[in-house]
Amino acid sequence: MEMRHAVESGRTLSIEFRKHLLISLRDAILEYEEEIYVALHKDLRKSREEAYATEIGQLLTEIRIALKNIRKWSSPQPAKTNLLNFPSSSKIIHDPLGVVLIIAPWNYPFLLSLRPLIGAIAGGNTIVLKPSELAPSSSTLLERMIRETFPKKYVSIVCGDGKKTVQTMMEIFRFDHIFYTGSSVVGKLIYQLAAQELIPVTLELGGKSPAIVEKDASISTAAKRIALGKFINAGQTCVAPDYLLVHRSIKNEFLQKLEQCIKNFYGDNPQQSESYGRIINERNFDRLMRCLDGVKILFGGDHDRKNLFFSPTVVEVVQPNAPVIREEIFGPILPLFTFENIDEALELIATNPSPLAFYLFTENAEQEKSWIKRVRFGGGCINNTIWQLSNHHLPFGGIGNSGIGAYHGEQSFDRFTHAKPIMKTPTWFDPAIKYPPFDGKLKWFKRMIR
Ligand code: NAD
Repeated sequence: MEMRHAVESGRTLSIEFRKHLLISLRDAILEYEEEIYVALHKDLRKSREEAYATEIGQLLTEIRIALKNIRKWSSPQPAKTNLLNFPSSSKIIHDPLGVVLIIAPWNYPFLLSLRPLIGAIAGGNTIVLKPSELAPSSSTLLERMIRETFPKKYVSIVCGDGKKTVQTMMEIFRFDHIFYTGSSVVGKLIYQLAAQELIPVTLELGGKSPAIVEKDASISTAAKRIALGKFINAGQTCVAPDYLLVHRSIKNEFLQKLEQCIKNFYGDNPQQSESYGRIINERNFDRLMRCLDGVKILFGGDHDRKNLFFSPTVVEVVQPNAPVIREEIFGPILPLFTFENIDEALELIATNPSPLAFYLFTENAEQEKSWIKRVRFGGGCINNTIWQLSNHHLPFGGIGNSGIGAYHGEQSFDRFTHAKPIMKTPTWFDPAIKYPPFDGKLKWFKRMIR
């Protein structure tokens, strides 16, 4: 395949060439900015402001960081050498992985396609991008952007039904790495397909991310930041708080503040608000309707299937096996649970272990330490939600059920390169003790090797 030749030809080893591709991508994003707004509005009814803050702006930052640091990241790193190997010297070289397949979901269709692409280009790979067919306006535009911006032997794009296209591509070609963002169900299928050829994978999955509000939290701030993190993009955000655990003593006050925030953000009728998105399709809308089984609506609950509108909704579980306890909600329904002490809360968290994100609201440093130590999660915030992923100094990724591997900023470069260690040993010094016969050398080995 042409892409394999392109990477093996050594052309992508040139830092200038990688920079040129990154600059071309940046220019394309700026050139197509208006069309990106239109596509995101059609697919998800995102406002221009939200589209910029959560997709375009994040991409421009990621490209800027890559352009600024790529030379440093890709320079061979000197490494120490231990006494046993004296007088050798050591270094680590960052090699491209080769031909990489990036599979993206629909909820942030530009960000989650192009952010990994930036890392993969910076790492010197050639790339096949597979956006989600469920955000059709965005994937059609991405297809045009990619085709017009890159020679297809360096970056190409395949659109359509993932079930068919991904399987077919993997049958006819052995990729060197697969970077997948999406549901755990499909993630497992990708992992199985990749395993047959021993292809390494990155899996950026979802999960049920809790937000904890302790009794000493700043309640107004917690309500505001939880409402933003949950209802942005109509709840269709992988790191959105999936459910709330609020200390029993502050439940009523918190709930009242949360309702007020939702009204402040989206008005009395969120369907009229320019800042409130829509559900991606009818299948997901119907799935969300089923999430209302076994719950009591505390706030919201309005919906309009024809217009794929589902209002910000806060619920309380009234049946022990309600779907919202078991499944990732991935929409604007926020179940509220209460707890008296950390052990009680941990029991509920343990029913969906290793979430992608974890949010804790507290003003108490001891509480903070104790929660962070006892919950296993991909990444998170104290007194905030979702913004951790906009800090490119932090790795972003899951653990256990929520994924394998992290990216963003320098971590993306590391994700898309192989750290190749090399030790160079001069020939002028070659002590006989290192070679057979070994008889009688054990005592020397015991001194030298430990
Ligand atoms: P999805 O799994 O349905 O689809 C993701 C991609 O996989 C699409 O490109 C699709 O075409 C492809 N695909 C679908 N079925 C396939 C199959 N059988 N074989 C091969 N490829 C296939 O996911 P989605 O519904 O688009 O995304 C929602 C999920 O993604 C949620 O669980 C969410 O939490 C998660 N997510 C995670 C992150 C993250 O960064 N960790 C980001 C966004 C979304």
